[in-house]
Amino acid sequence: MDHPIFNRKRQLLLGHDDQLPFCRRKCLKDWSDSAAHLGRQMKSSGYTWLCEACANRRKIGDSNATKGLLELTRTWADTESSVQKVLEHLKTKQSDIFLDDLINSKFLAFHKDITDEYGMEDKQHSWAVIEKQEEIIMYGPYYPDYSSGEHSEDIIIKQTQELLEAEDFPEDWTVYVFTMNSPCLSRNTDPCMLNLVHKARDWWSMYAVKTHIGFVRSWGFKGNKENLFKNVNYRQMEIITHSVDYRSYIESVDKIDDLSPLCETVFSVAKDLLTAEQLKFPLITTEEKQEQKTHFKSMNCMLESKQEEEKKLLTKELNVLVEAADLLLSGENQSLEEHMEKGKVFSLTYTFCSEVCEGLREEMRVRFQQCWMETVQDRCAEFVREKLTAEFNQHTVQLFIEDIHRLTRSYLQIGKLKL
Ligand SMILES: [Zn+2]
Ligand SMILES: [Zn+2]
Repeated sequence: MDHPIFNRKRQLLLGHDDQLPFCRRKCLKDWSDSAAHLGRQMKSSGYTWLCEACANRRKIGDSNATKGLLELTRTWADTESSVQKVLEHLKTKQSDIFLDDLINSKFLAFHKDITDEYGMEDKQHSWAVIEKQEEIIMYGPYYPDYSSGEHSEDIIIKQTQELLEAEDFPEDWTVYVFTMNSPCLSRNTDPCMLNLVHKARDWWSMYAVKTHIGFVRSWGFKGNKENLFKNVNYRQMEIITHSVDYRSYIESVDKIDDLSPLCETVFSVAKDLLTAEQLKFPLITTEEKQEQKTHFKSMNCMLESKQEEEKKLLTKELNVLVEAADLLLSGENQSLEEHMEKGKVFSLTYTFCSEVCEGLREEMRVRFQQCWMETVQDRCAEFVREKLTAEFNQHTVQLFIEDIHRLTRSYLQIGKLKL
């Protein structure tokens, strides 16, 4: 695999700080937040005492913080209970967590360099930057390799580790990690988000290197493969809409043999979404457009009971009708009622071939309307599931960042990018 690295040399500006011996410089930095220590430091003649104190302070602080961080990441690694935690949280509205303006503007500059060099890319990819005082190292973009199960962040971590290890004193560097989707929180091996948090902790305690992680889309645990809402279908949506509360919902579902109730939290977040606004949705997704997926297949069942001659004529007519109806699918976002009306108007105004008798025409109209209704309802439910999943993923990332930042604020920032 091609792992491009390119350097950009920057003017080296030596300030007063940089001319101090290496160890002294570090100690001064460590103690600069405490005025009392600063006073003592000035009077002290030798560096030895400072270095020991500095090292001890670090050790004590480190072990406590590391313990806390390990506990926190362990709870997040338990996907099942974390999913429940996020679900409970879904009822409260929250806004995205963005990176600080200064860090965001750095990412913007790097992003421009990358896109100038490699072009825009919407698919998942990652790149990273190590910012030293005298130069900048950029590496990437890297892409996931799904056949081997390698995520793009795996390569970022490996490369960063190698670059830091290769240097004797990589102190005061900053690592910037860009990833299109926020790092995953659930995977058959250690998820990227937790790997990155642990690495950021290591890099900080070993090299005093800070890490910033910026992303464009909130991926959550497993992004679009999240199946938490898979049972929210159109029939469920209708019952949810017409139930005043969870109890009456359960009563209604119990009367239907082949339907099982959704849990209370999923019920209430779905109900919130369905009552909040009138849903306007497209009938076809961009992926489907590329795939040329065939709709209205179920209309073919009307061929079954027909004679050979009639079947031939009907097959030809069906193909023409389906092709014309396909255009109807790629219209703008509309409400369920508007989509339904569109299909009805289509079937009533459609010009059949003159050889098709009135009886067959009527049968085709009825079949088409049935087919159209199912397509619209399925698509509506799919849209609702997508919306719920997107909201859930967004909340997951927000909650995680809030949790983690409490313990890592001094060396790790994770946030959405304003590109
Ligand atoms: Zn020291
Ligand atoms: Zn991952």
